[in-house]
Amino acid sequence: METCSPEFTLATIDFATGFLNRAGGVELIEQISSNPNCQALSLIWIGLDRLKQINESLGYNAGDTFITHLTLRLRTKSGRARWCRIGGDEFVCILPGKDSAYALQLASIFLREVQHPIPFGDLLLHPSACIGIASLEKGESTYSLLARADSALNSAKNTGGGHIVVSGNGLPPKTHLARRELEIENNLHSALEYGGLHLHYQPIVGSDGKVIALEALMRCMVNGEVIPPSEFIPVAEKTGLISRLGEWCLASGTRLARRLSDSGSRIKVAINVSRSQLALPHFSSSVHAALLISGVMLDQIELELTESLFLDGSQTVQDNLSALRRTGISLAIDDFGTGYSCLANLKDIRAKTIKLDKSFVTALPDDQRSLSIIKAFAQLGSELGMTVIAEGIESQSQFSVLRNTGVHAFQGYYVTPPIPEEGLFQWLTQRT
Ligand code: C2E
Ligand code: MG
Ligand code: MG
Repeated sequence: METCSPEFTLATIDFATGFLNRAGGVELIEQISSNPNCQALSLIWIGLDRLKQINESLGYNAGDTFITHLTLRLRTKSGRARWCRIGGDEFVCILPGKDSAYALQLASIFLREVQHPIPFGDLLLHPSACIGIASLEKGESTYSLLARADSALNSAKNTGGGHIVVSGNGLPPKTHLARRELEIENNLHSALEYGGLHLHYQPIVGSDGKVIALEALMRCMVNGEVIPPSEFIPVAEKTGLISRLGEWCLASGTRLARRLSDSGSRIKVAINVSRSQLALPHFSSSVHAALLISGVMLDQIELELTESLFLDGSQTVQDNLSALRRTGISLAIDDFGTGYSCLANLKDIRAKTIKLDKSFVTALPDDQRSLSIIKAFAQLGSELGMTVIAEGIESQSQFSVLRNTGVHAFQGYYVTPPIPEEGLFQWLTQRT
């Protein structure tokens, strides 16, 4: 649809972002909505979290880096849409001719895009945002439209970080969630059918810096949209698709283990397993089959399970665990220390590896209590003959502190973020 744009002067541009400023944005919305050809208009109002905290704790430079990165990312995902900086940490994407369904789809992409970490010195900033959406109603004024988008943003903020609320079209947030789940389910079907599943590998290094294992982390990419596991694994579990995803992951992970051993390497591949997979009666057999087909040795694969799974009351889960132990495959306790961990459980769990949850590491280097807990876990794990890994290491200072805790191995963005399979061998070669 043709829309007429007003002339933008220097006074209507925000210099930090190159977006329109508040006055310029309001003027443009006014122009579009008063155009007799205007059949639809939607606004996506984004509020960034914690900009004030970043400015206050790291300085305005960090705040500027944060804003520059994020506005660039938003711009690249929004095609020809116009943007306006409506406040210090609030931005509005103006979508002439688009309805709220389109705006919602785009807003989900923005939200995911915002969440990628931003490097700043030896820190990684973890942005998050909330979004309010409003679409123009017949005869509505610009100010009412903006007020509804603003109020939708406030409702999103009240619901907690990372939420989207659409104003006025009667769909409560729950309905949006349900719709998003359907979209993800569709994407998973399409990824399984036509390709779109990928494994990224995140190295785990020993205290001598040598890579001892690669953790396989699944990614789903459909139509250029990358869906992270935190979104698609719960949907896959709910819909039963997890069994096909799990088999795909086992087949691909063991294939990589085979490539590694063929190249003379003894690096292990660690594969995550969720409860719904272990609750499938045939799970241990499918692991066995994947090992046979790929021809890899048992000690080249490790399965990562959260602590609660080892203690799960279901007979099928316990039968699978016993069968896996009989095979001799090594098991790792993932995210140890979260939930209701009990140290006494460690004696019964019989895992070879224990991965301390990243929440302990995040609190380093300053938090002495986390440091004491890590040291105690490291000592206990060592005495029980387990390899103790610290995960989620993001900075040099965390790494330095961890080196003196007795922890055996290290994993996190500080070593490297997960690497797509295509770049993995090059990374490994450069590392040695
Ligand atoms: P996890 O097994 O604990 O994996 C570690 C997660 O932490 C990964 O997120 C990884 O990208 C992220 N991470 C690594 N280093 C850092 C760091 O320095 N800082 C921070 N903040 N994060 C870091 P990802 O890939 O999004 O995976 C999330 C979770 O999804 C995994 O947690 C795992 O439980 C599950 N998952 C991933 N792939 C699979 C899979 O193939 N099958 C199953 N069942 N679950 C999977
Ligand atoms: Mg894991
Ligand atoms: Mg973990």
